[in-house]
Amino acid sequence: MKVHIWGARGSLPAPGPHTIRYGGNTSCISISLDKSSTLVLDAGTGLAAMGQHAPRAPHTYYLLVSHVHWDHIQGLPLFAPLMCPRNRIVFLTEPDPDMGQQAMSQFDGLRFPLCREDIEADVRIDPRPVDHILSGLGIYVSWMQMNHTGTCTGFRIKGPSRSLVYMTDNELGNDYEGAAFSRFVAFAGGSDVLIHDAQFVEDERECRTGWGHSFLPDVCELAQRAQVGRLILFHHDYSRSDADIDRLCHKASSTLMPTTACSAAREGMTFDI
Ligand SMILES: [Zn+2]
Repeated sequence: MKVHIWGARGSLPAPGPHTIRYGGNTSCISISLDKSSTLVLDAGTGLAAMGQHAPRAPHTYYLLVSHVHWDHIQGLPLFAPLMCPRNRIVFLTEPDPDMGQQAMSQFDGLRFPLCREDIEADVRIDPRPVDHILSGLGIYVSWMQMNHTGTCTGFRIKGPSRSLVYMTDNELGNDYEGAAFSRFVAFAGGSDVLIHDAQFVEDERECRTGWGHSFLPDVCELAQRAQVGRLILFHHDYSRSDADIDRLCHKASSTLMPTTACSAAREGMTFDI
C-alpha cells in the first residue's frame, strides 16, 4: 500500500519561493488500499491537490480526520471527486461521531458557495467501528487522543507489511518520565514509520508551550523511546523555509540513534506500508 504526502504544513498554508521543496499545503496523506479505494488522513489544503490527480474511474475515499481545525479540513470544499456522482466519500467517525458532520458543515453557502445538496458524489458518514469497515481491505486502525487544544485523534495503521503511526497536532511536553509521555511511547512503540507534529523548536518553548504542538527534542525523545524505524517530522510551522526545515531535520538526525532514520515530510513523498 502506497502512502503519499500531499500536505505537511501546520496551521496555515505557506506558498512562496522559500517553501518550494517541502511544499505549502496543510495536512493531507493518502494510503492506496486497492484500485478503487483510498484512505485519506486529514483534509487540509493538500486534499485539493490530491483531487487534481484523482482517477477517472469510480472511486471510494475513506476519510479519517484528526480534528476540524481549519488546517485539517480546508481542502475539502475544493476536493474535485466530490463533484463526480460515481464516487463515494465515506467519513470514518470513530472515535468522534460528530467529525464528519462538522467537516461537512463548511458547505453552508456562506463559508463556501456550494451547499451539501450541490455535491454530486455519494457522501456518507459511517458510524461503524473503523476496523469493521477497513479490515476487509487489509488494513487495521487503532487510535489515541492527542494532547491538543480541543479534541484531536492520532491513528496507528497496520498495513500488509509495515505499520504507520500518525500523530499530528500533539504537544508531548518534556515530562519524559510522566504517565502521559509513557502512553504516547506505548502507542507509537515499535512502529516502522512515525509521522509526528514537530512544529516548534527548543528556542520557542517559553512562548509556545500550551499551543498544542510539539518541540523537536521531545519528538526525538519519543521516537527513540518508542524504537521506531523511521521518524518523519510533520506539521511544519508556516513560517519555516526549506532551509529551516533542512536544519531541523539535520538536528533531529544527529540526536537520534542510527537505528532510527529521520526525514521531514514534503509534498510528493511516498513510501509503502
Ligand atoms: Zn494543525
